Formats: sequence, C-alpha cells, structure tokens
Amino acid sequence: MDILLMGPPGAGKGTQGAILSEARGLPKFATGDLLRDAVKRKTPLGLKAKAVIEAGNLVSDDIILGIVREQLAKPEAAKGVIFDGVVRTIPQAEGVERLLAERGRRMEAVLFFDVTDEEILARLNKRRNIEQRADDDPAAVATRLKAYRQQTAPVLDWYEQRNLLRRIPAVGSVEEIAQRARRALEH
Ligand code: AMP
Repeated sequence: MDILLMGPPGAGKGTQGAILSEARGLPKFATGDLLRDAVKRKTPLGLKAKAVIEAGNLVSDDIILGIVREQLAKPEAAKGVIFDGVVRTIPQAEGVERLLAERGRRMEAVLFFDVTDEEILARLNKRRNIEQRADDDPAAVATRLKAYRQQTAPVLDWYEQRNLLRRIPAVGSVEEIAQRARRALEH
C-alpha cells in the first residue's frame, strides 16, 4: 500500500508519517530527510542541493525522481511506502505515478494535512529553536511557503481529480490528528 503525505512545511507530515509507518509496518520515505543527510555527509548530491535547500527552494524534479526510483528499488519498499513530502510538483506526481506503475502499483491515498499560515509560522519558529534547521530561518520559510503555494498546492487538485485526496484538519493533539488520518484511510 502506497500512501502520500502532503501539506505545507510544518504541517506535521514527519510526525504523522512516523506513526503511520509504525502502524502499517511500511517504511517512511522523506526526500527532505534524505537530502539533509546528503548535505551533512557532503555527497555529490548533497553538495549540489545544499544552496537550494538552505534558501528554501525546490530541488529539481529530475533529482527527486532519481531518489524515488532508488528508494522504490529497495527490498523493504516492496510492499508499499509512506511518502512524506515527496511529491511537490505536478511533474513529480506524474513521475511517481509512472515509477509505481512500473512495479504494478498505484497510489492508494493522499493525506493532505491542512493548517493555517498563522499556525505554520508559529510551529516553524518553535522548530527552529529546537532542530536548528537552516531552512527554518524567516527568509527561507517565506521562500518555502511561496514554493508550496505556487508549485505544490496545484498538486492537491491533481490528486483530487483522481479521487485520492483526503483532507485532514491538522490542528489538535498528535493523537487526534493520527486518529483522523487512520479514519481517512478506512474508506
Ligand atoms: P522537507 O523536510 O520536506 O520540508 O524538505 C526540506 C527541503 O528539501 C525543501 O524545502 C526542498 O528544498 C527539499 N525537498 C524535499 N523534498 C522535495 C521535493 N519532493 N521536491 C523538491 N524539493 C524537495
């Protein structure tokens, strides 16, 4: 079963993805985590992507789809994956659909964690003090929100047209939101 988690930065995709991954016994795969790790280890990918990520812009679709291809080829991904923040543009949505189809699979559901801008800014501000992420500084956050609105928000319609989108109000306790996510996957 392949499930995609979408939502603006700070919507809680990482936290909810970890809960879902545990509950379903499926690996969680987050391009943001993989990219941050590549930057830290100074791999060729990391060196190439560092400036883009730290400014809050999107990494190219080719790079992202190359990473998805690699991850889907892993044995632990054979039964399905929880995709966290992986699809951020329409070409990525099309590419992931193609890569899954090559394996005889298709996206089962897309959970959209919906939060207001006000809430996002408050959460990212808090996270910046805890995780020290370079891309949580105010200028990078503004760029990330702009990238989200311009490039990622249209992807929601793309999945809606395919009847895959489930909207989860993502304000409340972690457990409340996890329960909404579980229910959304029941039908
Ligand atoms: P995240 O942790 O998901 O917020 O990702 C952190 C940063 O990594 C983003 O702001 C982008 O620069 C980059 N990134 C992660 N996933 C993608 C993606 N699917 N497409 C383009 N850039 C991405």
